[in-house]
Amino acid sequence: MTSYTLLSAAKINLYLEIIGSRPDGFHEMAMVMQSVDLCDRITLTKTSMPVRRLNCDHPQVPTDSSNLALKAVDLLTNKFPELANRGVEITIEKNIPVGAGLAGGSGNAAATLIGLNLLWQLGLTQIELEELSAQLGSDIPFCIRGGTAIATGRGEVLDPIPSLTDLYVVLAKYESISVSTPWAYKTYRAEFNHRYTDISNSATLEERQKRVHAGPMVTAIHHKDNVAIGSHLYNDLERVVLPAHEKVMQLRHSMASYGGLGTMMSGSGPTVFTLAATQQAADDIMTKVRTGLPTADLKLWSTRCTATGIRLES
Ligand code: ATP
Repeated sequence: MTSYTLLSAAKINLYLEIIGSRPDGFHEMAMVMQSVDLCDRITLTKTSMPVRRLNCDHPQVPTDSSNLALKAVDLLTNKFPELANRGVEITIEKNIPVGAGLAGGSGNAAATLIGLNLLWQLGLTQIELEELSAQLGSDIPFCIRGGTAIATGRGEVLDPIPSLTDLYVVLAKYESISVSTPWAYKTYRAEFNHRYTDISNSATLEERQKRVHAGPMVTAIHHKDNVAIGSHLYNDLERVVLPAHEKVMQLRHSMASYGGLGTMMSGSGPTVFTLAATQQAADDIMTKVRTGLPTADLKLWSTRCTATGIRLES
């Protein structure tokens, strides 16, 4: 094959707790990540010349070497110098909003790694791709794996749990508002480091991680108890992002009043999501949000949880 088209799914955080500060400058995290069926479409095409080109239909997405998909190409080429003379053209059709807390860029990098493994016939296993991808971004291993997972460490240490698929999601984002992930973590560190657990002691860290595995969110997922999942949504980053963005705070309050299972901001925001038990319930909530906040700047999606992060387009 000279070309592959892949779909990369967005993710939401059902649970996001910042545990402490790590010696490498990152935060120690405890998260439950969930793929949702809102996807970008990435086409990788072999080129005869050793060039790497990227096109994207979204004005906020860089097409130079700072694009995470091109960084994924560089990551593979640095690891395997014999690939230096291979060329690829990448086309990204963006459906996932940018700077939204939905890991759209990380998903594109994940799709690029999986696609190049096929296109260049590298024969790497999924675990090898996940390990390599962690060098590029903490969310990318999860984007490769997809489904539902507990993520600890920087977010790159994944423990699988049964995938949720029978759970529906309304996503809402103001087009004019984006949040920088580094800003959100930096601000949290400045304001809330008194909440940090001292993770330099490995027994303390292990005990903290065990608490997540045995915690109510993970238990609810094991029992496929959608009502309990909705009531245990949690995100530490709401403490810094919502006060800085009054409109997102109001959006969150309105969405929570429309009868879903639970409402929360995803990742570093500003996307807010509401869980619903059926597609019909999700569609009804979306209509209520649209009617309650009638502005063209507010973009809405009705989607569902999915067990797949990256899939080949059939
Ligand atoms: P995360 O939750 O992983 O921090 P996010 O969903 O908040 O990510 P992204 O949509 O991944 O944010 O984009 C963050 C920034 O990364 C954008 O402002 C953009 O400039 C840059 N970027 C680089 N490559 C991509 C890509 N392929 N798609 C989207 N943004 C990209």
